[in-house]
Amino acid sequence: MYTESEWKVIFNNIESNSINLFHAKDVVDVYKDKNTRFKIKIIDSNYSINAKVYRSGESEYTIEMFGGLVIALYNLSTDAMDKFPHMFKNYDKNDAETKEYLRQYLFYAWFDFIAFHEWSHALCGHLILGEGKSLWTEFRVHSNQDKLSCYASMRLEAEADSYATKFVLARFIDILPSLRQMATKDQVETDYYIDHLFIYFVLFDFFGTLIDPKKDSKVESTHPEPFHRSFIFASFTMGVFKDIKGISPLSVPEVNDIISKATLAHYVLSEKMSGDDFFIKMMSAAAFMGTVDDTLATLNIKDYRICKTQKL
Ligand SMILES: [Zn+2]
Repeated sequence: MYTESEWKVIFNNIESNSINLFHAKDVVDVYKDKNTRFKIKIIDSNYSINAKVYRSGESEYTIEMFGGLVIALYNLSTDAMDKFPHMFKNYDKNDAETKEYLRQYLFYAWFDFIAFHEWSHALCGHLILGEGKSLWTEFRVHSNQDKLSCYASMRLEAEADSYATKFVLARFIDILPSLRQMATKDQVETDYYIDHLFIYFVLFDFFGTLIDPKKDSKVESTHPEPFHRSFIFASFTMGVFKDIKGISPLSVPEVNDIISKATLAHYVLSEKMSGDDFFIKMMSAAAFMGTVDDTLATLNIKDYRICKTQKL
């Protein structure tokens, strides 16, 4: 375990690495208003688990990641490969260098997803509806005081996830050549995509286990349930996958095959969900996705959107 001052050094390194976060070309291409600036800060004076985004200037937004969240992700990246052996199955995890590379890859994949998710709240105009003007907090312990209903919040969170999905996919495509070099010859092309999905299934499951320190019970979530987030993530990722330059296009049956292989391997084989429960969850996740666009349309946030892209 690291001391407080060691964590400060780690936080500083992560903060300087995160400066590159928003510069991948595919990401910038999606983000239309290049005049708006985003900053990322790790709050080392607060070790609780939270993240927020707020307007900090005329055309400037600040994303705050609380120290406790960063440490929890760091610890998760250390344990995940042993806890979820189906992840990165065709890599030599006994080789210390490979394992450390994959650990760092996991940590930044998760850290960046959360930062992109926060960024997406600002891009999509959600801040105007959050608690207080121009602020969105992820884990609202007192969500019942929020003026926004939990029903609407969950749909806005799903929209932020859908944007963040596209951003992390752009980063994955950047890193794919290095992953190809490191994997064993047993790895086939679709295994890379399945691994990419697993990584985020684990993150969503982790969010589902967060404990509210005041009540000593699970955080009252204003996000879709973890399975629904995984389903949305997989659907958006594979939906976009058909049109990526430099990647062989996948047919609809291939896309469906990847989604079902990844969800079954993670939830049924590894997490021991029963086949019946899995089927019910799939149906309810699809039904949830069907309610997102209609709810967004009633919230009247069009004028507050920074990103003018209608659909990803
Ligand atoms: Zn959010």
